[in-house]
Amino acid sequence: MDAVEEAKEKGRLLFAKPCEFVLGAATLDGIPQAELSEIAFAGRSNVGKSSLVNALTGRKTLARVSDTPGRTREINFFRLDNRLMLADLPGYGFARASKSDSARWTELVFAYLRGRPNLRRAILLIDSRRGLLKNDIEVMELLDRAAVSYQLVLTKADKLKPNELIAVQSRVAAESVRHGAAHPDLIATSSVSGQGIPELRAELAALAST
Ligand code: GDP
Repeated sequence: MDAVEEAKEKGRLLFAKPCEFVLGAATLDGIPQAELSEIAFAGRSNVGKSSLVNALTGRKTLARVSDTPGRTREINFFRLDNRLMLADLPGYGFARASKSDSARWTELVFAYLRGRPNLRRAILLIDSRRGLLKNDIEVMELLDRAAVSYQLVLTKADKLKPNELIAVQSRVAAESVRHGAAHPDLIATSSVSGQGIPELRAELAALAST
């Protein structure tokens, strides 16, 4: 097995382990102790974040808890095999969000990002069909300011033709090199076809606690 296949196998094994919902936190006081290596998932509402978390963990309903009323403004934590904490950040860019909603989002997320020493990486999800929108770039700037290392991941890659996917990948990659804290590898995923899921599992398993 070469190194890439070995990393994917490690990812597959980790994400086959039990994953459980820990809690949802609406304020910083409510977040769990910083014990395990942690990965945060961020993205616009409807980007496919719940579907991706479910595809990674191979469970259909895990992240649905975040859809229950009142939970959408919370950071939801999932523990994977006592080795990795997955933090599902509230979606942003909701069309009807008021200014004070956006301010609350920024306040909670920025405080979380700044105060989380065990946070190994943020995964910023971008809808392949839309590419980077203004508020995605604002979140990249927030991550730069919080000095959190982050990686862009395209969702819904199955919706694009191969040449369209290449075009959006190169546009997104061109923007990401302008951001100091952005990881250079861009992964295109689909929760429907499974594209990119083994690669993303491999990346995340490499960051897990041992
Ligand atoms: P969230 O709001 O970011 O958690 O987004 P969801 O996971 O709820 O997905 C939003 C919508 O996009 C739903 O209708 C999903 O079925 C759809 N969706 C999510 N991921 C994919 C994908 O990889 N491919 C396609 N074709 N649709 C997807």
